[in-house]
Amino acid sequence: MPSEASANAASDISGVLIVDDDPVLVAITEMFFQKRGAANVYSAHDGAHGLEVLDRHANIIDFILCDLNMPQMDGIQFLRHLKDRHYRGHLAILSGEQSAIVKTAKGLARAHNLNIVGALTKPLKINDLEIMLAGLNAPHNEVAPTAPVLATVHDLRHALVNGSIVPYFQPKVSVEKRLVCGAEALARWLHPSLGMIGPNFFIPMAEQNGLMGQLTQKIFDQAIASAVLWGKRGVAPKISVNIGSESLNRIEFPDQIAAQIGAAGLECSSFVLEITERQLVEKSATSSEVLARLRIMGFGISIDDFGTGYSNIEQLREFPFTELKIDQSFIREAAHDQFARTSVEASTKLGKQLDLRLVAEGVETEADWRFVAETGIDEVQGYYVAKPMPADTFADWVLQYEGRGTSDLRQPEQASGF
Ligand code: C2E
Ligand code: CA
Ligand code: CA
Repeated sequence: MPSEASANAASDISGVLIVDDDPVLVAITEMFFQKRGAANVYSAHDGAHGLEVLDRHANIIDFILCDLNMPQMDGIQFLRHLKDRHYRGHLAILSGEQSAIVKTAKGLARAHNLNIVGALTKPLKINDLEIMLAGLNAPHNEVAPTAPVLATVHDLRHALVNGSIVPYFQPKVSVEKRLVCGAEALARWLHPSLGMIGPNFFIPMAEQNGLMGQLTQKIFDQAIASAVLWGKRGVAPKISVNIGSESLNRIEFPDQIAAQIGAAGLECSSFVLEITERQLVEKSATSSEVLARLRIMGFGISIDDFGTGYSNIEQLREFPFTELKIDQSFIREAAHDQFARTSVEASTKLGKQLDLRLVAEGVETEADWRFVAETGIDEVQGYYVAKPMPADTFADWVLQYEGRGTSDLRQPEQASGF
């Protein structure tokens, strides 16, 4: 019987990836994690395959169990690729190699700043896995832990219709003037019994079930309505909306969304559409046309999670993007890691050459803010300024932040952990 602690630890994990060329071991460990409530369990037969799976499910996988000796790409090479991808979940090594090799691999993983939680030897004893899981605590997990495992796609479909999927808004602040220049709409699922569920859980679920078009539309509907209300109080940030690939590949999307914005008395130029660097790399003829039309209509177009998607300079030059958002993993590490600092500086230089507005995401401390300001980045988004908050507290927050005063100042719901 698993101890209660280990059972809970496993259900805190939203996605497990097992990378091993031994099919029997894969079957056993898959069953182990499934039985203990992990919502998604994937497997791969070598490092290259493992990376493919990780790239497809990067938002879900937060536990990787990896063999060292595998054909094609071995475990040591795999660790380096995890570092390059800024993988931040748990990592455990499982190996039949001598303990000195396992120890070296463990040290290497640490040097790569990977969150290594165990090194197990083959033949695997289930008890070793239990002990490792019992020792897990996942304070850095930003997704609500156990609750989402119980939410199904049926619930999500329902939530999309009954209005339980709502945007929270996180301010973007100009570094120079410290004024609020934008707000990113970030989807939240307000579940009637499970509480608030974060997008890292339900966005992949929506993607896998063809619900992203509907989700993007819901977020847009509410972002537009909020913009109208805030505008009446003199609060008019540009609103950033994350655009899923489903919308980007729908040829009618630009006309529909522009008509909706126009009908609300707003301008397309008041909205910024964020596409991830990965979407940019994967773009098709249709999505290129959709992006071009959106840009012509006046929308800002931002490249999100920059630094994680391997785009090249030609792809950036090819299209008149307006903004580049440097991925938060670099910003967070810049305070103590020279490599991350150099990456941010290089991205900033590139962005300036291309005349893009530069945004740093994930600014959590004063030191992060100082670094970002010294690097010449234009805007900051991060917990240091504010966490995402509900639409009805946003205008008050802006007026207070900018010193414009308000009689009824309520604290935004920042204690939610999102
Ligand atoms: P993202 O677009 O990169 O959004 C930024 C994420 O970073 C948000 O997480 C935000 O809450 C978090 N964040 C901001 N500042 C800080 C900070 O200082 N420290 C830390 N630790 N985190 C910070 P969130 O809201 O959980 O969203 C996760 C991802 O889910 C988003 O990443 C985005 O890729 C996706 N997502 C959220 N809403 C939508 C949506 O409406 N449509 C689509 N397509 N994707 C969405
Ligand atoms: Ca974003
Ligand atoms: Ca981002």
